[in-house]
Amino acid sequence: MAAGDTAKASSLKDFHARSIADREGFWAEQAALIDWHQPFGRVLDDSRPPFARWFLGGRTNLCHNAVDRHLAAQRDAPALIHVSTETDTERVYTFGELHREVMRMAAVMRSLGVRRGDRVLIYMPMIPEAAFAMLACARIGAIHSVVFGGFASHSLASRIDDASPVLVVSADAGSRAGKVVPYKPLLDVALELARSKPASVLMVDRGLVPFDRKPGRDHDYAPLRERHLDADVPVEWLESNEVSYTLYTSGTTGTPKGVQRDVGGYAVALAASMKYIFCGNAGETYFSTSDIGWVVGHSYIVYGPLIAGMATLMYEGTPLRPDPGILWRLVEKYRVTVMFSAPTAIRVLKKQDPSWLTRYDLSSLRALFLAGEPLDEPTARWIGEGLGKPVIDNYWQTETGWPILSVAHGIEKTPTRLGSPGMPMYGYDLRLLHEQTGEEVGVNEKGVVAIVPPLPPGCMQTVWGNDERFVQTYFSTVPGRLVYSTFDWGIRDPDGYFFILGRTDDVINVAGHRLGTREIEESLSSHPAVAECAVVGVADALKGQVATAFVVLKDPSQAASDDARLALEGQLMATVDQQLGAVARPSRVHFVTLLPKTRSGKVLRRSIQALCEARDPGDLTTIEDPSALEQVRQAVGARV
Ligand code: AMP
Repeated sequence: MAAGDTAKASSLKDFHARSIADREGFWAEQAALIDWHQPFGRVLDDSRPPFARWFLGGRTNLCHNAVDRHLAAQRDAPALIHVSTETDTERVYTFGELHREVMRMAAVMRSLGVRRGDRVLIYMPMIPEAAFAMLACARIGAIHSVVFGGFASHSLASRIDDASPVLVVSADAGSRAGKVVPYKPLLDVALELARSKPASVLMVDRGLVPFDRKPGRDHDYAPLRERHLDADVPVEWLESNEVSYTLYTSGTTGTPKGVQRDVGGYAVALAASMKYIFCGNAGETYFSTSDIGWVVGHSYIVYGPLIAGMATLMYEGTPLRPDPGILWRLVEKYRVTVMFSAPTAIRVLKKQDPSWLTRYDLSSLRALFLAGEPLDEPTARWIGEGLGKPVIDNYWQTETGWPILSVAHGIEKTPTRLGSPGMPMYGYDLRLLHEQTGEEVGVNEKGVVAIVPPLPPGCMQTVWGNDERFVQTYFSTVPGRLVYSTFDWGIRDPDGYFFILGRTDDVINVAGHRLGTREIEESLSSHPAVAECAVVGVADALKGQVATAFVVLKDPSQAASDDARLALEGQLMATVDQQLGAVARPSRVHFVTLLPKTRSGKVLRRSIQALCEARDPGDLTTIEDPSALEQVRQAVGARV
């Protein structure tokens, strides 16, 4: 190691230490990474813990920082590269073109009555208009709430009710693996179900499937865009703590929480992460395979790369079509330097001929970042060796908006360690706490991953419309301490690398998508045949986890024969498909006459899950009726 490197070697720890010891000084420096229309006064107000307000009085705008700011130097440089292998289309928008399209969309939104502070719900496939809509909201100070296109009517309706949007932006259909997935019928049902009725629906017609239009409510985007071709919509300068967006995420209850984010703190946090963690430079290309319906899509398809002046590649398609080389062909074609995906996508590729990894010129690519679910060592090794590139695991949540754990090669070339997402990132005062005592645990001891407030810039401000729920959900679980719980177990090795060991709650993670078992249970319970049910996450070699359901029928004779069981299982899966979306569909539905419960009536999910994974079901001293567990054991054929 050269002398200079040795001097740098302590710098990640120093950088982190300073970010905690001198939060205001540290973040004031990072704030210079973005444009401010009006400078902020105080850097941080945390006088009402656990709430934190960043960059008080500063005025800025996410759309300005993502688009307008780059016009002077990069007007003709690529900004949004859209590739759909579903519709065989590719289109590159320069910053200048993106600017025009966002202003057109903003003008259309204004013409439909959208004002600053209004909510706009975006239910769209991965098409450029989805990014235009998000940026247009940011431009005019409307609050966007993107709902993943894979969610169905019931999920959509509950989000519409919580956000009460004035406008919904949608499209005729998405497409997955060559199959058209109509959106509008699901949206129409959701709008019927929802108590809150948005005045307008703006429809992007891709020409994939005909759809009904409700007169007076539904508007086609194309003719409205034509009317606003020359629109000049100036940005609204927002106070740093105004709301930029809400994004719903699942927890232990059946009602998803609207994670609420600010403007200034988020912009600064993303700009800093692009510099220190992702090491992306203006003029280069960033490619995240996520979807705008998830937080990665918000932070690292739309806002982060654009704020850094990078082109962002937005991809509609799967990693396998037209062939398993598609992702790498895109890396070659667009000279991608930074790539972001999920372990599940890599496990999908792992089943293919590994020569797909070496057929293209990947010389532009510096690193592959993976996040959203645990990255198993064989997968990390396979892709790292196959590509000959660094693979960087990073751990975070919808709530935090940017990585909590990673390595920050923009500060120091800390080596990665297989199985570990890395070390605490600057700004996060991360602790591992004993679940019962709230005391810090020692090296190699398991604890709850917790963050001592204030949460750094970019993290959620609160739960939309429900401060009480924010405090209750996240800050009340560790006894005697006001700390943020991630609801993940972790350990730390002697060198400071963290390892994530799974959730402390009933949330499951299917292919990197967070799902609440409670939501799935509520959906199954809505079927008239169901008396009660329990859903658990079960380890799966491809998707990380899959949902498995155990159902007690009102009339057990309905599942007397194999045929009847199969038919009912199909019906129950279809119920979840229709209400929540196929993403939440249990992989198996087992019928039992009794659920394993404690004497106080709590379902013993951990024991059910253990049996499904052929593990020891653990302490059963509180079980009400051991025969219930026997039924589970028989249903899944466990030998434990
Ligand atoms: P979401 O908010 O949907 O991104 O889900 C966040 C949750 O996914 C975390 O609380 C973890 O349980 C899990 N997760 C995300 N990234 C990682 C990672 N790199 N390693 C292990 N678990 C992860």
